[in-house]
Amino acid sequence: MVRLRRSRKLRGLISVFVAIVAITEMLSTMIVPVGASNVITIVYGGNGRTHGAIPASHTLSTPGSTTLRHRGRMSRAGYVFQGWRSVSTGNAFSAGGTVRWNSVASGQRRYDAIWRISTYSGFGGRFMRVAWPGTNINIRFNVTSDYWSRQMGQGLTNWNNSIVPVRFNRVTNNPALTNNVATMVRSGVDGAFGIVRWWSSNNAITRFEIELNNDRIRYDRNTTNWANVATSVMVHELGHVAGLSDNPTGSTANNSIMNGNRNRNTVTRLQPFDESSILMIH
Ligand SMILES: [Zn+2]
Repeated sequence: MVRLRRSRKLRGLISVFVAIVAITEMLSTMIVPVGASNVITIVYGGNGRTHGAIPASHTLSTPGSTTLRHRGRMSRAGYVFQGWRSVSTGNAFSAGGTVRWNSVASGQRRYDAIWRISTYSGFGGRFMRVAWPGTNINIRFNVTSDYWSRQMGQGLTNWNNSIVPVRFNRVTNNPALTNNVATMVRSGVDGAFGIVRWWSSNNAITRFEIELNNDRIRYDRNTTNWANVATSVMVHELGHVAGLSDNPTGSTANNSIMNGNRNRNTVTRLQPFDESSILMIH
């Protein structure tokens, strides 16, 4: 009797253990009992959709994989559909992407729509057609002046202290390390505070050059603190690399590093508005 009871307890423990392991998505080393197969129901979430039906759910038998549905007629005003995010793991997938579940526990797994804002009406933020594709960006400073090197560095520091996942890493000024470069010029294009040139492929920036215009930054009639103005312009140009466009003035985007009318003497870092804009693309 005693031995039998123990054995039942042990079996109970094993099934609890399996259930705990089973909630982990995409584990390739899962031990699956021979012949065991359970059904996962893939359900979709509209995540703010305004029109059209959410794609129908579908099932897969574990262990196994399935492709995630396309959005069908589902849409969200002012947004472009990007794909799906697993609610359980946070992993992002494109529509038509493959998800695999080795889990032996039956149940629902939800995938919520990922949307990217497409217009700035009622929002204020503008996006470029191109952006650096990743979140780690190497950059070198091709300047001889300690002053300019310091203010460019301050721009990187201010950026990296923000909440966005995009990070700029300064590397030694050696073209072999990266083509991405920031320089100072004596009189810039059209007298602008700064510009960024970029090279791109399939909407992904592959290389960029930032130029800060010494003459405009130091001698603009509104400049009272040119160290801050230089930093502000640096962060603004980094914003372009991350995919932000210049924001229109007189809109809700006024309080933005991407606003051409910002006070460059005081606005030297990404504003909450810019951070949420970047979080929409990255
Ligand atoms: Zn700009």
